[in-house]
Formats: sequence, C-alpha cells, structure tokens
Amino acid sequence: MKTYHFKIPPKTTALLKKIGKLADERGEAAYAVGGFVRDLFLRHPGVDIDITVEGDGVTFAEKLARLTGSEVEAFTRFGTSIVIVPGFGKVDVATARTESYQSPGALPAVKKSGIMQDLYRRDFTINSMALSLSPGYFLKLLDPFEGLEDLKKGRIRALHAKSFMDDPTRIFRAVRFEQRFQERIEEKTQRWLLEAVRGNYIQRVSGERLRNELRLIFQEPHPERAVWRLDELGVLPHIHSSLGVSASAKMALPHIAGAIGFFKKNRMVLEEEKMVWFQALLLKMDEKGAAALSKRLMLSRAEQKIVSQSSKAAPALPRQLAGKDIPASRMYRLLCSLRPEVQCFLMAAAAPDLRKKLAVYFVKLQKIKPWIRGGDLQTLGIPPGFRYSFILLEALNGQLDGKFKTRQQALDWVKNSFAS
Ligand code: ATP
Repeated sequence: MKTYHFKIPPKTTALLKKIGKLADERGEAAYAVGGFVRDLFLRHPGVDIDITVEGDGVTFAEKLARLTGSEVEAFTRFGTSIVIVPGFGKVDVATARTESYQSPGALPAVKKSGIMQDLYRRDFTINSMALSLSPGYFLKLLDPFEGLEDLKKGRIRALHAKSFMDDPTRIFRAVRFEQRFQERIEEKTQRWLLEAVRGNYIQRVSGERLRNELRLIFQEPHPERAVWRLDELGVLPHIHSSLGVSASAKMALPHIAGAIGFFKKNRMVLEEEKMVWFQALLLKMDEKGAAALSKRLMLSRAEQKIVSQSSKAAPALPRQLAGKDIPASRMYRLLCSLRPEVQCFLMAAAAPDLRKKLAVYFVKLQKIKPWIRGGDLQTLGIPPGFRYSFILLEALNGQLDGKFKTRQQALDWVKNSFAS
C-alpha cells in the first residue's frame, strides 16, 4: 500500500486524522472513499467527504458529531449518516456493505461487510478507491481495481459485466463522469452499457431515480456534452419513446448556457434552471407525449407546467414570430404567460434574428408597467364588468406598440373611446 501526499487544507487533514483516530479507539477502521478520493487525485478536492467505516457507521457518525459539535442525520436503510461539521461541510458516513440486486433496477439488499467488498459494490474503478485513515496507515491507498491507472488514462471502467443491468442509473453516471472529466468510457464497459440499454433495463428504474440522474446531468458545467452522448448511445428513447435530440435541439443546445446566463444577468429568476436544458429533449414530443413523460418521471407540478408549456410553444413560436416587424403586443401576447424557464429555452432555440428580438422583449418590453389600470377606469366612471379586461389589454397593446407616447395619451384614448 502506497502513501500519498495531497494538497489538502490543514483543517481537512485534521478532520481526517480525527476520524481515523476515533475509529481506531472504537476498534473499527475508517476510510475516505468514492468521489472524494477520486477528486483528490484529480487535484479538485471537493468540500464534502465520503467515509466508510468497517463497523457500525451510524453509531460512529453519532460519536463523530459529538466530538466535533456537529448535527447528524441518519438514513438507516443503507447504514448511512450525514454529519454537518460546523465551519467545514458535509461528511457522509456509511457502514461498509455488500449489495445484492434481487431484480434489475430495484434498490439493492444490503449487508455489512469489509472495505474490499464495499469497494466492489461501487460503479466504476475511479470511484472504487479508498484511503485508509487509521493512525498507522494514514492516507495509504487501497485500489483493488486499478482505478488510479484508469484515472490517469482517462477511462471510465465498470467493475463487472452485469453492473449496468444491476443498476441502470450507472448508465447516466458513466456519461456524466465521462463528460465531466473529458474521459472515455472504456470499450468493454461501453459494450456492457449498450447491452443494458438495448435490453431495456432503463424501463425498470423508478421515475424518481431517473429524474434525479437527469437533474445531476443538467447541473454539470456542460450538460450539452452529456446530452449529445446520451443521444449517441441511444439512451433517451428508453426513458420515453419520443425523447431525443432532434435537428432543432442540436441547434438549440449550444445556446442554452448563454440564454441562462442572459436571464441571470438581467435578474430574471429561473427557479427550475435544469428544466431549461430538459426542454431540448422534448422537441420531438407532442402534448400527449409530454403528459406521459411527466408521469413517468414523476415530475413536480412546476416541472410539469414547464414541460406542457414548452411542448405547445416551442414548435409553434418560430412561425408565430416570423417576419421583420413583429408588433411588441404580439410578442407580449404569445410570451407573457410562459414560465421564465420556457422563455429562456425559446430564446436559446430561436434563430439569431429572433433571439435578438426576444432579448429586447425580455429585458425591456416584458417589464413595462401598464400605464392604465382598473382604478383609472373606475375614476373615469366606466362601469366595472367584462369590458375592463378588454380595455386594459388594448391600452397596454397601444403602449407596447408605441401608439401612445405618454400615459396621458393612453388615458385620453380610453376616455374618448369608452367613457360616456
Ligand atoms: P459527484 O462528484 O457527482 O458527487 P460522487 O462519485 O461523489 O460524484 P455520489 O453520488 O456522491 O458520487 O456517490 C459517492 C460514491 O458512491 C461514488 O463515488 C461511488 O463509489 C458510489 N456510488 C454512488 N452511486 C452509485 C451507484 N449507482 N452504483 C454504485 N456505486 C455508487
């Protein structure tokens, strides 16, 4: 076992030593594992630490929390706990375990084990390394599957042929890591992955888990790369038959990050930012398909609304806003009721000319405050009734299209046209 020296902040080293010593005192052994170890070798140490304990992870986490004055949350089904260490971050503590899959795609049955079996249950070699934290072996590397070699060579390699069938979410994880680290899924692993895709194993995964994997992909710095790759590997139609990357989506994808940046810069809030990316996969989908997809992925209400609005607006909008001189009022009518996430995607998907017009619309016109309000109509003695909404809309249209230059002009128009 080789000992490694990493550039780690002193407070992280101190915490790792504390964890190793506590385990030793309890007659247990603690290891740093998974993404934390991988990222140390990549010289991108994350703030969160993954710890696996050969022993009782839940009790260990409680003791660690007491020792460091931290809060602890436990998820006992997998023997895992999260310790929130003040001034530091999250420490995930798990009991070393083996996993067995009763049926593909379902959650596994788990049993306590030693660190080696625990590493064997993991997804890829680069995520199956452990660093001992025991006082006598501090930062000695356990790397039974040669993950470090794969990391150096830029390879994503699964541990066994059935890995993607046991847990098809690993298909999405493989693509996510491949694109994040600009690595390559190793040849044999890709064959296993494709077998699981073509064998329709994705269908067995719950909507919640699939949605979570997509969410993680859309949170990466370059989701467009992973989307291309999922398309290339034929993954998307296995989530839903009409999910995919159409020719229009290929045009939109490179502009999505820019459109999101534009919205943020102009303080237009995208509560469901990931859904801007998701819409790129929906361009082949009709409304019925969109509803079925929402159900399959167990989307939240807000997410469903975005999918439904986008599946209606995205195919029609370029036609509706074609031409040189589109009145601002027409843009307003077509766009104002859409969620910002849909507006943002439409901007990314638009041809350059229309994109410029949409930019002006979103920043200037959409924020215009109507000059005429209900109170003005009352003051003018117009009896309340269904006519109000018509008058207010027409007044706003006139304001947007420049028919009225001032509030007074708009008011005069209302008075002359509607007040008796
Ligand atoms: P990220 O940087 O995206 O958080 P991570 O590798 O830390 O990546 P987590 O989802 O936090 O990913 O998982 C921690 C570790 O747990 C992984 O490194 C891997 O060893 C293991 N793991 C997570 N999900 C799976 C899975 N579906 N199958 C097998 N092992 C998994």
